This record gives sequence, C-alpha cells and structure tokens, in this order.
Amino acid sequence: MKALAIFVVLLLLAPFALPSFYLTLLNYIGLYGLVALGLLLLTGVGGLTSFGQAAFVGVGAYTTAALSTGVIELPQALSWTQHSPWLALLAGLLLTLLIAIVLGSMTLRLSGHYLPLGTIAWGISLYYFFGTFEQLGGQTGMSGIPAIEVFGHPLVTAREMYYLIWTFVIIAALTTQNLLDSRQGRAIRALRGGVVMAEAMGVDTARSRMVIFVIASLQASASGWLYAHLQRFVNPSPFGLQHGIDYLFMAVVGGAGQVWGALLGATVITVSKQWLQDLLPQLLGRTGNFEMIVFGCLLILLLHRSRNGLWGLVEQASARWLPKPARSRSVPQAQALPRRVMPPRGEVVLEARNVTRRFGGLVANNDLSLKVHAGEILALIGPNGAGKSTMFNQLSGVDTPTSGQVLLRGQSVEGRGSRAIANLGLSRSFQHVRLLPAMSVLENVAIGAHLRGRSSVFSAAWRLDRAEESRLLSEAAHQVARVGLQDHMFALAGSLALGQQRTLEIARALASDPCVLLLDEPAAGLRLREKQALGELLAKLRSEGMAILLVEHDMDFVMGLVDRVVVMDFGQKIVEGLPHEVQQNPAVLEAYLGGVAP
Ligand code: ADP
Ligand code: MG
Repeated sequence: MKALAIFVVLLLLAPFALPSFYLTLLNYIGLYGLVALGLLLLTGVGGLTSFGQAAFVGVGAYTTAALSTGVIELPQALSWTQHSPWLALLAGLLLTLLIAIVLGSMTLRLSGHYLPLGTIAWGISLYYFFGTFEQLGGQTGMSGIPAIEVFGHPLVTAREMYYLIWTFVIIAALTTQNLLDSRQGRAIRALRGGVVMAEAMGVDTARSRMVIFVIASLQASASGWLYAHLQRFVNPSPFGLQHGIDYLFMAVVGGAGQVWGALLGATVITVSKQWLQDLLPQLLGRTGNFEMIVFGCLLILLLHRSRNGLWGLVEQASARWLPKPARSRSVPQAQALPRRVMPPRGEVVLEARNVTRRFGGLVANNDLSLKVHAGEILALIGPNGAGKSTMFNQLSGVDTPTSGQVLLRGQSVEGRGSRAIANLGLSRSFQHVRLLPAMSVLENVAIGAHLRGRSSVFSAAWRLDRAEESRLLSEAAHQVARVGLQDHMFALAGSLALGQQRTLEIARALASDPCVLLLDEPAAGLRLREKQALGELLAKLRSEGMAILLVEHDMDFVMGLVDRVVVMDFGQKIVEGLPHEVQQNPAVLEAYLGGVAP
C-alpha cells in the first residue's frame, strides 16, 4: 500500500519533471501495462496462455474509431450515441464482453497447447477482419478520431492524455490486486495446478477461467480505446499477432503472478525496445530490426535465470539487501459463519450399493457395499492394491462405478461432479496431497470455505467483500488451529512437512462445514504424537455427529479409534465388523500376512 502511494505521487509529479518525449513513452507504457495487467491475471496467475490479446485492443480501438467518427451509420434511435468517445468506450467494452464470452466458451475448455493455438487463431482472424472491412478503412485505417473530453475539456496533448491513461492503469492494478486477495481470487489462483482440488471444494473452475478471460479482454479493450484517442488514428498493424506476443512477453518478463511485475514488464520492454531501436543501428552502422534479435536473446537469458521474471529478481534482491518487513499478521477475528444442520445421529449419510469398478480386465472393486452413519467412524482397510482408493474415488464422485450406486444423504451422486457433491456436505482429503504450495496455510484452508461465501468478483475488486472475507478467514484460522497448525498459519503450504500438509488438507476439508468427511490415509507420515492428536480430533468430530470414512494402512491407529471396520482384499469386502472382531478374523490375518504387512 505504501509502495502504491509513492508510485501514485511519482506519477502525479512526472509531467512537471519530464520532457514530452518521456511523457509519450509513459503513455505507451501505461497502454501496454493495462493489457499486461490483464495477462498477469489470465496467464501469470490463471495459467491460461493467450497470444490474442492484441485483437481485443483492436476491438476497443476500432469500435471507438467507427462510432466517434460516425463512419458507421447507426439506426436513428441510436444516433445520439455517435460522436461521443465515452459512449463508444461503453460500446467497445460491451462488444468485447460479447466476443470474449463467445470465444471463451469455445476455447477455454481446451487444454494443453490447444488453448494457445486457439488464441492465435482468433488473434489472426480479428486482425484480418480489421484490415479487410471497407468501412473500417482497410489497411490504411481511419483518421479524424476526436479527442476525449473530460468535463468539457478535450484531451489533446500527450500531457493531457497522460493522466487519463494512468488513471485507468492504477484502477486496473488496484482492482486486480484486490481481486487476488479475496475468495474469488483464491479460486482463480487455484486454476494453476489445483483444478481437481478446487472443484472438490466447490469452486466452479470453468467460471473462474471465464472471469479472468473477460477481465483481461476488457482491460485490453479499454487500452485500445485510449490508444485510438491518443493517436487520433487507427490502422490494423498494432493489433496483429506480433503485438499479441509482445504483450505476453511483458507479463511473463515482468513476473508471473504480480501486479507490479506486469507494470515493470511493460516498462522494461517498451523502454528497452525504444532504446535498442535507436542504439543498435548506430552501433552497427546500418539499419534493420536488430532490436528484435538482441531482444530475443535477452529474453531467453532472463527466463533462464529467473523463472519468476524481473519482479522475481527484484524480490530476491530486496530479500537479501533490505531488512525483512516485520509481518505481524494477526489472525482475523470475526463472527462465525452459519453452520449446516447436521443429519441426526445414526442416519445413513453415505452408502455404496454393490459398487463394481473395472479398469479393463482388472476388477478393482467387486460388488462392494458399505454404509457410513452420522456420528460414526468407519475404517476401510486392506493391503496395498486392495482397491481402497478406488472405492474412495467412487464415494467422493471423482470416479463413477462401472455398476452399482453411491448414495449421499439418500441421493445418487452419479454424474453430479465433485462441486455438487461438496455442496451436499461431503468433503475429503487427497492421498497425494493437493495444495497450493505458494499460498499460505491460512489461504489454502480458506479455499475449503469457498461455498460458504457469496461475494462476487465485482465486490472483491472494490473491497466490498471485507466483512464476509474476514468471516471466511476467521473460520479458516479456526480450522487451522483445530488441527494444530496455528504456528504455521502464514507459512507457505509448500514449506510444511508432508505430515503437516496432510493435516492441512483435513483443516481445509473441515472449513467447508461438511457432514461427511472422507480421509485417504491421513495418518501416513505423521509422528506418534501427531497421530494421537489426529485421533483425538477425529473422535471429537464424531461426537459432534460427523460421519467419517477413513481409508488407512496403519492398523494400530485404526483399531483404537474407529467404530466399525470394513476389510478389503482383491477388490472385495472380506470382513465387516467391530475392530476387535476383525482383528482376530482368520481371513484378515491371511490377507495381511499374504499381502503387504500393515
Ligand atoms: P489401494 O488404495 O487399496 O492400495 P487402489 O484402489 O489404488 O488400491 O488400486 C486397486 C487396483 O486397481 C490396483 O491393482 C491398481 O493398480 C488398480 N487401479 C487403480 N486405479 C486404476 C486406474 N485408474 N487404471 C487402472 N488400474 C487402476
Ligand atoms: Mg490407496
């Protein structure tokens, strides 16, 4: 915040200190920075690579060019909107929104290299659209674009445009920063490498992708609008693929995932390009696009040295040279969130009916039935490869039985998807931990509480969600303390020991206020004391009426804790009963001695 205030003051003073050449440069940095900020959200944070942002800049620029010059005749009823840049901004944003939703719903679902290819495809086609349309001036473009008026005062000079451009940039940077630090922001940050986990916590990841795509497109469009009125002229060339690549470079070079990184990237690339363009021909004594060659080499070097871009280097250096800022982050305190009405004790909360799951010829689960009641801990045990995790996946809706049924509170979960299942009150941990290593323990746990919040992207961007946000964080903090991780509240999740990461997953599951909890090998990797603490916690949850299904390897841990045991071997249920009955059952001893020792 302090850094931002200093930055704003410097920006305010710049026009008084700098000659107009530098102001023009700053104007361009602002225009590019606006697009790079969108890409920071889309690519840096969300992991969706787009080469096509320049086309959205074009949509903004051409819409205002067409409307504010009156080149495109609108119907009588709408003619009053013509010749007004501000209304054209609105029109451009609406048109961009429409295009982004259509393109996004077609391409955002594509995974791997299909998405970048898709963005290249639309980037190219929109570019040629601008160039081919007669009314839009073809390759020559359109001139005579009027100046933007603010309170009746036309912004004609670079100096006058400067304040408008940087107002847009600051608003975009601030709202992006706010958004990232919110419930919606956590969902967005989970897109990169945490989709399965996020869906299991009730996050609509397809929607989150669309949200960042739309925001990035709107910012690009606004940049195009500013550009058109700065230049007072447009032609297709700045909206081509080459510029789409440049924007992507700015976001990546600056530093993935940081607002300041995007602005730094835009600055460094704009300035150094300008500088190399002037310098290299002088040095080499001939003309040519030498800057592009040198530029390419520098980029490779930088990305090789610091994967987090320039901002990553800045942070490294500041961590080394500056005293560590004392982070006295306090645990948020707020009114508790409303809680689910728990099912009455003894109700069958989760049931598998004759579940069979085949993988090709292998029968991983064979005609397996089990019930978990409210206020009970059921253990599912068996040697390695018995089919426990497979069963776990059917029960949590991650996988669908080949035949048979899974019922959650009496409703079939078939085809519901993990989000709907989370909504019904089932929460889980993962055998192979799935957390977001670069986020704090508290934030990771807060993702579990996603479904307990309502705040929209808009309210997050404008900080209208603070009351709800502190309730969500306070709930998360409560769960962190409950599993005994209070000393690591603000540590990065990735820095925890594996056993602690598993414990974190339990806290995250609890933050969703579930009525049934599924834990896959929660005691693995825990020390004796930690196991005892975990056992106490689970017993406490049971006493509150939670239904718990435990998939475990560790017999000692299981036997002293659970109410009933289901033993599996080779995909089948071989025994079901009370712990001491099961322990003495010859078939169980045989399975364990024949298989891997517990
Ligand atoms: P457990 O968790 O009890 O150790 P699993 O449920 O992981 O056992 O595995 C049961 C059997 O099913 C194993 O033989 C395993 O190789 C097989 N299996 C599990 N998942 C798959 C899959 N996705 N495709 C093919 N085989 C699988
Ligand atoms: Mg397993």
